[in-house]
Amino acid sequence: MPVVQLVWFRSDLRVYDNAALTEAMAQGPTIALFVAFRQSWYQHDMAPVKQDLIRRRVQALQQELAGLNVPLLLVEGNSYQDVQSVFEQLLPLGIARVYTEVEYELRERRRDQVLKDWLAVRGVAWWQCDRQCVFVPGSFVNGSGAMYQVYTPFKKRWLQRFAEQGVQVLAKPKPQAPVVLDLPLVTPMQGGNNSSADWPVQQDDVMQQLRHFCQQQVQDYQKLRDLPALDATSRLSPYLAIGAISVRQCIARLQVEAGADLQQANSGASVWLSELIWRDFYKHVLVAWPDLIKHQPFQTDTAAIRWHNDETLFQAWCDGTTGYPLVDAAMRQLNQTGWMHNRLRMVVASFLVKDLHIDWRWGERYFMSRLIDGDFAANNGGWQWAASTGTDAAPYFRIFNPVTQSERFDPDGIFIRNWVPELARLPNQHIHWPHKLPMSKEYPGAVVDHAKARQVTLELFRHARQQGEKSDEST
Ligand SMILES: Cc1cc2nc3c(=O)[nH]c(=O)nc-3n(C[C@H](O)[C@H](O)[C@H](O)COP(=O)(O)OP(=O)(O)OC[C@H]3O[C@@H](n4cnc5c(N)ncnc54)[C@H](O)[C@@H]3O)c2cc1C
Repeated sequence: MPVVQLVWFRSDLRVYDNAALTEAMAQGPTIALFVAFRQSWYQHDMAPVKQDLIRRRVQALQQELAGLNVPLLLVEGNSYQDVQSVFEQLLPLGIARVYTEVEYELRERRRDQVLKDWLAVRGVAWWQCDRQCVFVPGSFVNGSGAMYQVYTPFKKRWLQRFAEQGVQVLAKPKPQAPVVLDLPLVTPMQGGNNSSADWPVQQDDVMQQLRHFCQQQVQDYQKLRDLPALDATSRLSPYLAIGAISVRQCIARLQVEAGADLQQANSGASVWLSELIWRDFYKHVLVAWPDLIKHQPFQTDTAAIRWHNDETLFQAWCDGTTGYPLVDAAMRQLNQTGWMHNRLRMVVASFLVKDLHIDWRWGERYFMSRLIDGDFAANNGGWQWAASTGTDAAPYFRIFNPVTQSERFDPDGIFIRNWVPELARLPNQHIHWPHKLPMSKEYPGAVVDHAKARQVTLELFRHARQQGEKSDEST
C-alpha cells in the first residue's frame, strides 16, 4: 500500500506560512483533510456567519491545494467524539503521519490527545506545531517564573524577543506529483447561507487587503482607529480567527511597508503592532489559565458580584433597542453583519455589564453567536477587560458614559444614522441623546438612567470585594 502524509486543517486555513503543510510535503506524498464538526461548533456558539466564512474559505483552499496537487478531503463530522470514526475511514489510505497546528482551547486539546493516542496504537504518528501566536505560549515568563498578568510588561518582553528573532514566514510549498486516491472524498462542503459573502476568501484577495492596509491606511491608524464611521482598521480579524492569514504574515508585511515607522512609539505602525501583541497576550493567558475556558472570572473576588440579569433588558441590548443610540447602532450592525468595531465592542460590553448589570458571560456568549471573527481568547479577554474581572482589566470604577463615547467617537452621528434609521433625520446636537425631541417617538426610550446605573455598579463591586475580604479573614 502506498504511504501518504495527512495534513489536518483546522484554524490554519491557508497554504502560505503553514508549517504542517510544509513539513508534510517535505516528507512525501501528501493529502489534506478538513472536518466540519457541526455539533461541536454549535456547542461552542459559533456564529452562522463564521461557519459560512469557513465553508467558503475551505472551498477556496481546496482549489489552492489542488494547484499543489494536494487533494483536500472534506468530511461532515458531528461532534469531536466522532473524531476516531472519521480517521477510521481514512486509515485505508495508508496514512503514515498526521500533521496539525495546535488549537489552544481545552476541548480541542482533549480531542487531539485522544486521537493522538488512538492513532499511535494503529501505528500512525502525530506531528503538531505551535504557531498560532508569534511566540509560543509558555515561553514568556515574568521574574517569578509565571505568565504575565499585565499587558505592558508582556509587550516589552515580546518586543525584546521580536528584536532578537524577528518573524519567519514560510513560503507556499512547491507542487508535488499528483496523488491518486481510492476514496471518493473530494467533495464540496455542504450547507452555507452565503451570509459572509461581503468578505472575500481567495488567498490573493486577503493578502491584498493586508497589503492595502499596510501601504495606505496604517499611517493614520493611531489617529483614526477609534472612529467607527470610518474604515480605518484592517478588518483582518475574521481571517486571523480562521487562520486564512497568519499573524506572522501580518507582521512581515508591516515591516516591509512601514520600515522605520515601526520603531517610532505611537506611529500608526507601532500601534497596530501593539494590537497584534494583544492578540498574542490573550492566547498566552488562555494557555496559562486554561480554566478561563470554563468562563471563570480571572479575578476570583468578582465571582461574588450579584448581577441583576434582567432578561428584558438583555433582550433590548441584543436587539439594539436600549434607547442609547451608539449602543443600538453597534448591536444592529452586529446582528445584521456579524461585525463590530473595536471601540463599539468596548462601549456595548461596558453598557451591558455596568449600565444593565448583566453578567458579562451573557454578553460573551451572545458575541460568539454573532461575530464573524469569534475567537475565544480575544472575546473572553475583551469581555473580562470590560467587566473589570480579567487580567489587566479596566478598573471597576471606570465606567464608560455611552453618550459621551458617542459624542467623542461618532461626533457627526454618521455611524448612528447608518444603523438606526429612526434617527436618520435628527440634527447633530440631538443624535447622541434624542429623547428631548418629539420627533424621536419611533425610537425606544432609554431603558436605564446612566448616572443611577453607575452608582449601582460601584455598589455591586464594593459589595463583592467586602465579601472577598470577609472570606479571606475567616480562612
Ligand atoms: C468585548 C470584546 C470582544 C471581542 N471579541 C473578539 C473576538 O471574538 N475576536 C477577535 O478577533 N477580536 C475580538 N475583540 C478584539 C477587537 O475588537 C477585534 O480584534 C478588532 O475589532 C478587529 O478589527 P480589525 O481586524 O480591524 O482590528 P485591527 O485594529 O486592524 O487590529 C489588528 C488585529 O489585532 C488583533 N486585535 C486587535 N485588538 C485586539 C484586542 N483587543 N484583543 C485581541 N486581539 C486584538 C485582531 O486580530 C485584529 O484583527 C474583542 C474586543 C472586545 C472589547
